[in-house]
Amino acid sequence: MYNENAWKKYDDKSLAELMKFNDGYKDFISYGKTERLCVKRAIEIAEKYGFKDIKSFNQLNPGDKVYVTNRGKNICAFVIGDEPMEKGINILGAHIDSPRLDIKQNPLYESNDFTLLDTHYYGGIVKYQWVARPLALHGVIYKKDGTEVIVNIGDNENDPVFVISDLLPHLAAEKNSKPGNKVIEGEGLDLTFSSIPLNEEDKKGAKEKVLKILKDTLNVEVDDFVSAEIEVVPAGKALDLGIDRSMVLGYGHDDRVCAYTSLMAVLDAGKAKYTTCAFLVDKEEIGSVGATGAQSAWFENILAELMNLTGDYSELKLRRCLSKSRMLSSDVSAGYDPLYKGVFEEKNAAYCGNGIVFNKYTGARGKSGCNDADPKFIAQIRNIMDNNNINYQTAELGKVDVGGGGTIAYILGNKDMYVVDAGVSILSMHAPCEIVSKVDVYEAYKAYIAFVKNAHEVE
Ligand code: MN
Ligand code: MN
Repeated sequence: MYNENAWKKYDDKSLAELMKFNDGYKDFISYGKTERLCVKRAIEIAEKYGFKDIKSFNQLNPGDKVYVTNRGKNICAFVIGDEPMEKGINILGAHIDSPRLDIKQNPLYESNDFTLLDTHYYGGIVKYQWVARPLALHGVIYKKDGTEVIVNIGDNENDPVFVISDLLPHLAAEKNSKPGNKVIEGEGLDLTFSSIPLNEEDKKGAKEKVLKILKDTLNVEVDDFVSAEIEVVPAGKALDLGIDRSMVLGYGHDDRVCAYTSLMAVLDAGKAKYTTCAFLVDKEEIGSVGATGAQSAWFENILAELMNLTGDYSELKLRRCLSKSRMLSSDVSAGYDPLYKGVFEEKNAAYCGNGIVFNKYTGARGKSGCNDADPKFIAQIRNIMDNNNINYQTAELGKVDVGGGGTIAYILGNKDMYVVDAGVSILSMHAPCEIVSKVDVYEAYKAYIAFVKNAHEVE
């Protein structure tokens, strides 16, 4: 069903299933505050469904369930299909990195008995949204001997949290007269970390006290921050939103809402005619670069490994697999916000509650940088959506001249695949807490199942 509110078709029984699915999603994002934690939880869920690490296979046969990980920050889950992979596979690709603050390599400094941690923001954050709110630290520290130290502070009961202090309005006349993007500047996003100085005849200060706590609790030295990845994220769990509990308020919907629904779709769809794949990727928010981003050779490498394990690898067959594959670039859309109507073109906006959103193209100001999906492929998808009673809509990201954005779609498009953007519409995108409609989460999951089971070669 195109452009209709999806809530209307739910009865008591299907509504209970929808709510239960969203409870699973809330658990996933409450735990998955970083790409590493998303991969960790995805492995746990996939293993419960009988998926095994690729390392445990000598060969792969139709129906085998296999996952592959990359540096702890990407995961791909596959179910091997009946058709050979050179006929293309059905892929759901989503990103599991979200905008946040990263701790710098030399972060710690002391000022007036406080210590602070210096950060470098990651992705398109709105800086003033990150002050005066509880924050947690998640990540890893590697010591010189290779020992891994897990950092997880601020999301467990009784944990301390962290904060970036803000100026009281009584003294903020000058600050508050600045434009929004200057009210808080990047170098002002320093985390309040401690306030008790070490009291040995006042010879040593707050920094030494903190170093002692880091040594006692984590067994790390300050130089160990050099080989660390520690992310500053909003503390706390995802919550039901609204008097009717119809929405979820949480951190990282972009794009963990599409990652979770894509993963669960491949897990629940089971064996299909073509091999199915959920590809959860890092670094989308900063351009999909590096070894763990969508532009990495990793995905092609693992397709080659998979084809090899099915006994059907050659360079030519790999090229054919890439060029015949069908993919939904599962990423979020800007939902129509009644408080900011002016930036949307109402006929081509995404509405919370109207189901999964397809974006033929993204890009900015004249489609610049977009993957303009093949209309023949879109026609096939419309047919699949209607045959499976899925609510879907089509949208652009705001008015033509207002702005724009991109996803991973063009990257796989560059590999000659059939790709279209498809995901959940959200409000307050990139804010520390974003909004999704539960019915859209569930419709996306159902749409992804229908896609991986039914998408086929585009003639
Ligand atoms: Mn995104
Ligand atoms: Mn984003």
